[in-house]
Amino acid sequence: MRRGVRPTLPVLPAAPAELRAVLLDWWDATRRDLPWRARPGERPDPWAVLTSEVMLQQTTAATVAGRFPAFFARFPSPSALARAELEEVLHAWQGLGYYRRARALHACAQAIETGHGGRVPDDPAALRRLPGLGPYTVAAVAAIAFDRPMVPVDGNVVRVGTRLLGLQLEPGAARTRVAEALAPLGLGPRPGDLAQALMELGALVCRPRGPDCAACPWRDPCRARASGAPDRLPLRPPRKIRPEQTTLAFLVRRADGAVWLRRRPEKGILGGMLELPSSPWGPARTIDEDLAHAPVAAAWEPVVGEVRHVFTHLVLRARLVRARLPEGAAEPRGGGRWFTPAELGRAPLPTLTRNLLRLGGLEPPPPPGRARS
Ligand code: SF4
Repeated sequence: MRRGVRPTLPVLPAAPAELRAVLLDWWDATRRDLPWRARPGERPDPWAVLTSEVMLQQTTAATVAGRFPAFFARFPSPSALARAELEEVLHAWQGLGYYRRARALHACAQAIETGHGGRVPDDPAALRRLPGLGPYTVAAVAAIAFDRPMVPVDGNVVRVGTRLLGLQLEPGAARTRVAEALAPLGLGPRPGDLAQALMELGALVCRPRGPDCAACPWRDPCRARASGAPDRLPLRPPRKIRPEQTTLAFLVRRADGAVWLRRRPEKGILGGMLELPSSPWGPARTIDEDLAHAPVAAAWEPVVGEVRHVFTHLVLRARLVRARLPEGAAEPRGGGRWFTPAELGRAPLPTLTRNLLRLGGLEPPPPPGRARS
């Protein structure tokens, strides 16, 4: 492509009004009842929409459906969340992962409280200025909560659009073209329902593998279906290999059962979350090299097995040693404090820490809102 020449806008395979009408009919007939969704005829609660959209960014609807009600009951308005301590927010976020979203939502609530009198602004430009909201979330909140004529384009919508348009592109390359091509669909009636219908179509029907084209309202105009192999689109990007890092974690317990935990640095992976003391994450080392990072001198007992935790850009393999300190022993070094079993129940524990505690034979309390199975 010559520099400065924009690729031609892909042409929709049917008139926007026609695509919109069949999609909205399908939505009216099949929409799921989800805890954050307004029922037909109800006005959406903008704060519920914003909170759920942030949760749904990297978490499945099924998981969010299980976690949203408890979180929303605790923080039913931007003001309630803005007033809460970050620690309390992180604790309530447990089970959803990607904790930077909880911090971003907290900062966003504070900006809504101070800049908008505690009400989610209905203007897309004002939404864009809130901390932590990217273009997708802004469009989703503007469309769903305020019926603004915007079409939010997430991964699911990129997939649906790429197939509908028959674009021979990878998702990253297709996103802008899909967004531009689908934008006219938002200009008609019910843009909020249209946005949700598109997302729902991607989640339930136009699945990554094995799309259910027979049940799709766009089966007639869809170019990928006409090709006979709809799930060949979008083209798959080459698989990224995540580098592997290792660590040795130390489970230290006091005679009364308390556990020593430290807080991770605010910036970076699991920022501000609680963890077991551990050796630096990095290439594999010998056990003696790892033991040099022990927070206290103790008779360390190796635990069989390991915890493998997949982050967005790396895989961590954590082994574990444990020790129980006798009464009167020196405090562990390197920051942290003792957590009694009761305090553990109120502490924000990421999945990695939970799994390490489990490996060490200690069942952590369930995250808030989830019953112990
Ligand atoms: S017809 Fe099939 S491939 Fe096309 S949008 Fe519908 S589900 Fe997706």
